[in-house]
Amino acid sequence: HNEGLGSWPARRARKTPQRPALIHDGRTFTYAELDDRVTRLAHGLRSLGVRRGDRVAYLGANHPSFLETLFAAGALGAVFVPLNTRLAAPEIAYQLADSGTSALVYGPAHADLVAGIRDQVPVRSYVALDGPGTHGGHGAQGAHGYADLLAGGGAEPVDEPVSADDLCMIMYTSGTTGRPKGAMLTHGNITWNAVNVLIDHDLLADEVALVSAPLFHTAGLNMLTLPVLLKGGRCVLVGAFDADATLDLIERHRVSFMFGVPAMFQQVARSPRWEGADLSSLRLLTCGGAPVPPTLIAAYGERGLTFLQGYGMTEASPGVLFLDAGHAVSKAGSAGVQHFFSDVRVVDSSFDDVPPGETGEVVVRGPHVFRGYWGLPRESAAAFTDGWFRSGDAARVDEDGYAYIVDRIKDMIISGGENIYPAEVEHAILTHPDVLECAVIGVPDDKWGEVGRAVVVARPGSDLTADGVLAAVAGRLAPYKIPKSVVFTDRLPRNAAGKLLKRPLRTDHGTA
Ligand code: ATP
Ligand code: MG
Repeated sequence: HNEGLGSWPARRARKTPQRPALIHDGRTFTYAELDDRVTRLAHGLRSLGVRRGDRVAYLGANHPSFLETLFAAGALGAVFVPLNTRLAAPEIAYQLADSGTSALVYGPAHADLVAGIRDQVPVRSYVALDGPGTHGGHGAQGAHGYADLLAGGGAEPVDEPVSADDLCMIMYTSGTTGRPKGAMLTHGNITWNAVNVLIDHDLLADEVALVSAPLFHTAGLNMLTLPVLLKGGRCVLVGAFDADATLDLIERHRVSFMFGVPAMFQQVARSPRWEGADLSSLRLLTCGGAPVPPTLIAAYGERGLTFLQGYGMTEASPGVLFLDAGHAVSKAGSAGVQHFFSDVRVVDSSFDDVPPGETGEVVVRGPHVFRGYWGLPRESAAAFTDGWFRSGDAARVDEDGYAYIVDRIKDMIISGGENIYPAEVEHAILTHPDVLECAVIGVPDDKWGEVGRAVVVARPGSDLTADGVLAAVAGRLAPYKIPKSVVFTDRLPRNAAGKLLKRPLRTDHGTA
């Protein structure tokens, strides 16, 4: 009996064989086709020696083979390791070695990178999406062709027992605050999270999801794609995010559901196509992964769209808080309340609940919370207090129990004994129409210990000055929160999830 994700395609094929499951690059795969391909791939991987517990990694852009590899690994009781395509070769080599990956499926864009790290990683079998020997000159050593593997695999069910408590994925965190850590997620973790999404966002069987957020990050996979596939909806997979193309795809496929990080939704709203685009098919937009600026919520609200903030992290599979559609307007700016099968608290340093209006740390407990970090027992133990996972994020809760994410506790600036959360200051600065992007960091100061500095990307062609930026926030923030300096730059460092990387900024500004 397979209780895990590996059984989903077969279960779906039993119920809705002819419904489209995946759409990519002009091709549609029904659930029956998905099931057949997953079964063949599972046999193919088994023929390469993949056994239960082995790690199977995937390195490539959004593509049906990403999900086929995930499900096929799950069918064998093997552990799926999604890799971030934007990482540099040594970082990918580290994750392959750290996870002890034995089989790697990779796309054509990564052939050279893979060829360059082969002698540093424990991988035994390579599977190239576009066939063997065509890229990077390592054909002689033999990468197997993905299509060949499918063609050679049998169609009979794989029949491997898998329990909900078995490990499903090692998913590395985004690496915003340090080196990415491998979160151990079970089949049960992923399933409970998907169930939470189905319940709390009222997903329908005819949902059309636009998947342009990367599948290798938790939200694109677990908040969008997997819940939709569990319900029998269809997912339009997009290899590379592009704002104009996003609007075209929404119109062409009558997209109803989309997830994005704030930076993605920002770019879409700034597209020249935005004003004229037909957005009438959109039923639900969910946004999270980084602080969501109020100006962004307003831009989507003005189009009459249901734009809901969510909050979570890789370790929680990832959904922790979500704003319910009924409160999209009245609680705009809030990350909402806990999911159905989840318990969330906001606590002070003594682990007592903070009263309404006060700021504390978000902690979470539930069947969707991970088993710890792969190979990091000390970090794993430190991540929990009395069974509660400590998010490291600060939030405030209002009288009705709605949470407002403030910022990462680690990013807090302490200036003259006062706590400043950069996200709040960034949001205030972003209200200036000539500010495209903004990051606030702490820099050392003789008098105050630390003071805020705003690093700003101005709209091209604008004559924005430091005084102009400061004037914009003067009435909006307490004086101690106002940055003491403003520096202009062409672009801000962001990771593959579009999150601001504060570490390189702090280094550039001599604070780390
Ligand atoms: P790492 O743990 O490796 O430093 P990361 O924390 O960015 O990277 P993820 O698990 O992808 O890795 O991201 C989770 C984090 O994203 C949360 O802990 C929180 O800081 C941030 N986040 C998620 N949703 C929101 C939101 N709605 N508002 C503000 N921040 C958010
Ligand atoms: Mg984190």
